[in-house]
Amino acid sequence: MNGETTSSVLTCVYCGKEYPEGTPAWGSQVLTDHIKVCEKHPMRELEVKYRKVRKALADMIGCDNKQELDSMESIMRIAQVPEVDRVNMLNAIDAVRSTIDCIATDSCKATTEQIKT
Ligand SMILES: [Zn+2]
Repeated sequence: MNGETTSSVLTCVYCGKEYPEGTPAWGSQVLTDHIKVCEKHPMRELEVKYRKVRKALADMIGCDNKQELDSMESIMRIAQVPEVDRVNMLNAIDAVRSTIDCIATDSCKATTEQIKT
């Protein structure tokens, strides 16, 4: 039940956009492609929250790009701090680094710019 009806009109269950059979975009891939850009899809809200959490964490540790993260990691590995602080910081660095790809894609950029404005 992925929005396909008997008349072979593919319909997005979130925004109602229809792709009738025979239209250029029609096919097994069309809804998959649409979901990535559908403004009503639940994933959009999650993406906004995801970016918000990521930015908050990046702001907290004071670095956001790979170069800054690498140098911060080097500092934290030799810093005279309690072990729990070191572990927490390295985990935060790892979390920000592992989500760094999200600022590189077009859809992420668009959402990021929407947040800024
Ligand atoms: Zn849609």
